[in-house]
Amino acid sequence: MARRFTGGRLVIASHNAGKVREIAALLAPYGVDAVSAGALDLPEPEETGDSFTANAALKARAAATGASLPALSDDSGLVIPALEGAPGIHSARWAGPERDFAAAMRRVERELAGKHDRSAHFVCVLALAWPDGHCECFEGRVYGALVWPPRGERGFGYDPIFVPRGHDLTFGEMDPDAKHAISHRADAFRKLIAACFGG
Ligand code: IMP
Repeated sequence: MARRFTGGRLVIASHNAGKVREIAALLAPYGVDAVSAGALDLPEPEETGDSFTANAALKARAAATGASLPALSDDSGLVIPALEGAPGIHSARWAGPERDFAAAMRRVERELAGKHDRSAHFVCVLALAWPDGHCECFEGRVYGALVWPPRGERGFGYDPIFVPRGHDLTFGEMDPDAKHAISHRADAFRKLIAACFGG
């Protein structure tokens, strides 16, 4: 049995304002009073883990102990089996300090040259930690294939080269609500809510 969140304040362990807003809105119906790690001046720990789960747990635990409150973090990325799982936990780093995802997508295409397997999946791990160090992690995935050239101006990151299985549009072309209904983040959230927040 997962430990449940019993209400009150929850730290969103992210300094990304967009992510914080999205997570706070998703949790609002469950009596969650969300506050961001940035608003509490909590330092951002270095992501030294070797998996999405390790990095999500490390961020959530750091925020929970720093704030003496439960904390929720997310870690996500694109996994490409033909590239031995790259960029994986390095998905953000492939875009460099300028967050140049056009360059990151070109690198994906360059490294895939001559490979037949163009399958890929996005992974999202949500970690909910308490100040005593207890942590619950939930992994969500969405499977699909990579296309070239990139298509669509919506979404972010690698969305313009990812077509989810059973669809024709890339995440970059899809209506945001359609993406959010099937995304790796939605999958992880459904699991988190059912285990720790749901009635
Ligand atoms: P994080 O913020 O350290 O978890 O980095 C996640 C990185 O994975 C982002 O910068 C994107 O490159 C990539 N990523 C995660 N989720 C998505 C998505 O839904 N669409 C496109 N790229 C994503």
